[in-house]
Amino acid sequence: MPELRNPSTGTTEPYLEEPAVQKFKSEIQGEVLRPGDPGYNQARHVWNGMIDRHPALIARCRTSEHVAEAVRFAQEHNLSMAVRGGGHGVSGLAVCDGGLVVDLTPMKEIRVDPKSRSARAEGGVTWGELDLATQAHSLAVPGGMVSETGIAGLTLNGGLGWLRRRYGLSCDNLLSAEVATADGRVLTASDRENPDLFWALRGGGGNFGVVTSFEFRLHPVGPEVMFGLILYPAERARDILPSYRSYAANAPDEVTSLAIFATVPRHPPFEPNVQGRSVLIVGACYADSVRDGERALAPLRKLADPLMDFSSPTPYVQMQKVFDEDYPPGRRRYYWKSVYEDRLSDEVIDRLIAHAEKRPSPLSTIAVWHLGGAIRRLRPQETAFHHRAAAYLIGCEANWDLPEDDVSNVLWVRNCISDLRRFSDGVVYLNFPGFLEEGEDMMRAAYGANYERLMALKTQYDPANVFHLNQNIKPLYMAK
Ligand SMILES: Cc1cc2nc3c(=O)[nH]c(=O)nc-3n(C[C@H](O)[C@H](O)[C@H](O)COP(=O)(O)OP(=O)(O)OC[C@H]3O[C@@H](n4cnc5c(N)ncnc54)[C@H](O)[C@@H]3O)c2cc1C
Repeated sequence: MPELRNPSTGTTEPYLEEPAVQKFKSEIQGEVLRPGDPGYNQARHVWNGMIDRHPALIARCRTSEHVAEAVRFAQEHNLSMAVRGGGHGVSGLAVCDGGLVVDLTPMKEIRVDPKSRSARAEGGVTWGELDLATQAHSLAVPGGMVSETGIAGLTLNGGLGWLRRRYGLSCDNLLSAEVATADGRVLTASDRENPDLFWALRGGGGNFGVVTSFEFRLHPVGPEVMFGLILYPAERARDILPSYRSYAANAPDEVTSLAIFATVPRHPPFEPNVQGRSVLIVGACYADSVRDGERALAPLRKLADPLMDFSSPTPYVQMQKVFDEDYPPGRRRYYWKSVYEDRLSDEVIDRLIAHAEKRPSPLSTIAVWHLGGAIRRLRPQETAFHHRAAAYLIGCEANWDLPEDDVSNVLWVRNCISDLRRFSDGVVYLNFPGFLEEGEDMMRAAYGANYERLMALKTQYDPANVFHLNQNIKPLYMAK
């Protein structure tokens, strides 16, 4: 395949014959964007402002058949292929240089069946869109904590949100999926059809095909839930976190909580004397009746004297958006990494405080996610998602605005995570994976005893590793 250097991007791209592109355009009956086309620049940008890539083509698909056609086209023309769901992948792999982006953004159909308590949503849907549709029936799928995130990427690598301890990971609530596979077919994966593929999709990421629609189990939630959001002075963290640890150890599964080191933004609703202060935020959701929730969350509101307490019965849809404005798309730069911890020991607490004090950007945070509950009730081999026993996940998030601050922010996260790894088995949550620097070692650790089976299924469904721009599981013959 001859290659051209694109003068506008400096990237090397396979040469695409014009008739081939025109034929592809007519086959997918939709938008295929190339550099210079109106809309191309907007479509190539993802949420993370650090990512600035120039694909040769962006196929804005509207049906599973379009997706299958795009997968075929990429292989026929030897193009590297990226898959975009909500475009919120932290490592930015939803877009590539010089290849084809299979963009599912236009695929927005949602069907809710309140009778069977299930919902089907296409691959371009975001959590905010799905929540709105399911909450019309006071039902919900356990999703993530920011409504603009895509259901696709988040579900395929697990999915941790406010309902995780009551109802499990997002992937635990998948009933079936429609998948465009590397060989150009569109398959259904469920307990009954292609059960191996279904097993792999629940935690195995984008390795096995493009998921064009997800069918989820729904649970009765809301319309209001008891939501806790309490701001404590960060100086009190050494007293608060041991009490939080005791609370979490005995909390019922209805309570999902986390504690976040952060800096208070300089605008309302934060009081002027609190703006700009370093705080420890304790957040919690009670996934059942509001009255029981008020009682269950009360101890979290008395861990010390709060600076502010926003806790109240809250519409579920609103709770799901509480953190949205902290994560604007496009311009801000992000680098997030994580590590599971079995215990929140005093030593870990000391290290968390020390790293939080060194945040180079006031926009950055360290979050302590309490796990357990329903996540732990499935055995590690029941789904591809393996790491179910840990009590906590530590997420270290660098969020900043200027390119000249890239190095200090990325290094801060790396130092924090490598330090905290000393107290655990070092496994990373694959939805907060940094830039996947640890490669195959990271993948092997994350999947543990499931890794061999995943490699065998990768070999079966994607022997040429066509779907490689992801948290990549290699086919057997390519693995170390
Ligand atoms: C602001 C923000 C908040 C977040 N909050 C949470 C949270 O609360 N809980 C949590 O668990 N995670 C959270 N995450 C992490 C999130 O789960 C991942 O970033 C996830 O990849 C986002 O999915 P997406 O579809 O938007 O991403 P995309 O960038 O579109 O996709 C990410 C990757 O997933 C794969 N992929 C996407 N769509 C498909 C598809 N249809 N078929 C096959 N493969 C596909 C591709 O490999 C792609 O590179 C958050 C991320 C952000 C940016």
